[in-house]
Amino acid sequence: MVNPWQVAFPGPISAGKCATSTRPTTWLFTAKTRWIRLGAMIKTVQIGSPPIEVHLRRSTRARRYSLKVSNADGTVSLTLPNRASERAALSFAKRQEEWLRAALGKLPPLTAPVYGGTIPFEGRDVVLQPGAGRLVRLEGQSLLVPGTPTALPAKLRGFLKVQARAKLVDASQIYADLLGRKLARVTLRDTRSRWGSCTEAGNLMFSWRLIMAPPEVLKYVAAHEVAHLVEMNHSADFWQQVEGLMPDYQTPRRWLKQNGTQLHRVQF
Ligand SMILES: [Zn+2]
Repeated sequence: MVNPWQVAFPGPISAGKCATSTRPTTWLFTAKTRWIRLGAMIKTVQIGSPPIEVHLRRSTRARRYSLKVSNADGTVSLTLPNRASERAALSFAKRQEEWLRAALGKLPPLTAPVYGGTIPFEGRDVVLQPGAGRLVRLEGQSLLVPGTPTALPAKLRGFLKVQARAKLVDASQIYADLLGRKLARVTLRDTRSRWGSCTEAGNLMFSWRLIMAPPEVLKYVAAHEVAHLVEMNHSADFWQQVEGLMPDYQTPRRWLKQNGTQLHRVQF
């Protein structure tokens, strides 16, 4: 479904900073606003039937309306400039109802980890099974997680973070050595808007959810961020650095664009 107002979500990229955008937002709609003075507020409204919840947010930096659907949790938000008319913003959202329903319908279902179910781990689906002892262990196609069903999500999340850290630090170190650069701090977060980022001071940040993706994908994000230690931009020179580290980087990059959303659909 093509919408005339569809524009690419601007990645959070600025000078001195890079972010590998996850495209957290399906699309972003914009329209010109009328400038009417109203107090700042955040509220939730419903449009259509069955109702779609829309979170209204005011932003001093917003110059237009923007309507977005979070790929991570399906939240719909409508940002409007501080002084814009709420009524006009709402009617703008109502005109997008059909698109909104289609976008929400396309989201893969949210899944919660349960014993007997599966989760992606390093690109393959592993079956979650109760385990003995205290440590989570991978055994063949099974991930053995000790504890109770209620403790399962937290226990699993802890395991994934530890695994992700080990793999991301290893990969980043290898690539940094290849480029003759020094790594500063490596931080892991559960970020919704980016898979990784790099600052000029050499601090790298990654999403620990990358451990659920195929190993090449995790390595690509590490190579991408480490390449920013040499080129803090997305110029042809930058991509040449990435290619030097990972000649077939296009395949994992494409995988992330096409499948990255799925990694956010697992709720821990
Ligand atoms: Zn980048």
